[in-house]
Amino acid sequence: MNSEFKVPIEIELYERKIYDLKQLIEISKGLNSTLEYNVLIDSILLTCMGQMQLFKAGIFLKKGIDNDVYSLHRNYKGFELDHQHEYEIDPQSDLIRLLEKNNRCYTLEELNALLDNDDSSLKIINAMKPTLVVPLKGKGKINGIIVLGGRINGEDFREEEKEYLLNIASLAGIAIQNAYLYEMATTDMMTKLKIHHFFQNSLTELRERALQHNVPLSVIMMDIDHFKKFNDTYGHTCGDMVLIKVARIVMQNIRPTDVAARYGGEEFAVILYNATITEAEQVAERIRKQVEKTKIESEKGLLSVTISLGVTEFIPKIDIDNKSIIERADKALYMSKHAGRNKVTTLK
Ligand code: GH3
Ligand code: MG
Ligand code: MG
Repeated sequence: MNSEFKVPIEIELYERKIYDLKQLIEISKGLNSTLEYNVLIDSILLTCMGQMQLFKAGIFLKKGIDNDVYSLHRNYKGFELDHQHEYEIDPQSDLIRLLEKNNRCYTLEELNALLDNDDSSLKIINAMKPTLVVPLKGKGKINGIIVLGGRINGEDFREEEKEYLLNIASLAGIAIQNAYLYEMATTDMMTKLKIHHFFQNSLTELRERALQHNVPLSVIMMDIDHFKKFNDTYGHTCGDMVLIKVARIVMQNIRPTDVAARYGGEEFAVILYNATITEAEQVAERIRKQVEKTKIESEKGLLSVTISLGVTEFIPKIDIDNKSIIERADKALYMSKHAGRNKVTTLK
């Protein structure tokens, strides 16, 4: 090859752009392959870290489906943070307004020069000591913030890198928006548990996974005792408070990988992946005891309820669809009812 020959600068630039676009297509495919928040967030953070050679990345997202405050998602990487401290950003803060107005990345120095030092959100960002802050947008509105830091080569971000990060952020923002809509559509607004349809789909998927990996899977069904009488005595609003409280107790006693659903009006169901019937029975008993001892504050005084539970384990040869395993759990539940309520019954 002629050593005099040089690739024109324009061609080098175009090649770089084509390479970047190919990368972005791959990133887009990755981000769109899941609607599960945890998987998606890891995917966004690891993409930024890998592309920019960083060892610190975190993401602030809306706290919940009915809470607009942004909080640092627990999957953050590399930042050394105070676990007692709440890393939360007010949606009305100047920081959010600035990011909303200008869709661009900001260094920490730029933010400190532009915003009031007293801005509580800026204090939160400063406490994390990131080098770059990147807004996430879905449907034209901010729906999150990525904070990045710890560049392996120690260099500042170049302008084209910031632009590239904004492109990643716009893909991530759409993916977050989709995951959020999916979360909304599959969650019961009152109890914050998953809806019936989601439960059925999850059970189908998890039965297949349990079979494939040869691990146990169990189901708990539960129903509030004499709830009709409770409603009639204390009113529907008190009844709703009970449902919310019981749902919270269920969530507090299961693992993040378990699926808790509002199966029907005052009936809840849990799928416990990788749990034997004995392990599921222990979980059920814990839930039963905690519901029994919980007092619900209301204008009618301190109220309490009990629940009956049925537990069963997946039997691959018999449970070829969802119906039989649910029927067994339901039967166990009704055995608890007939045995006097406020009980856990297992059925193999
Ligand atoms: P058992 O111990 O046999 O389960 O008796 P129960 O009265 O709980 O059973 P039943 O199925 O007859 O009554 C269920 C009641 O749950 C009837 C209905 O009014 C109440 N319910 C269902 N959904 C809701 C809800 O969203 N809010 C309130 N407050 N009550 C509900
Ligand atoms: Mg019922
Ligand atoms: Mg009931």
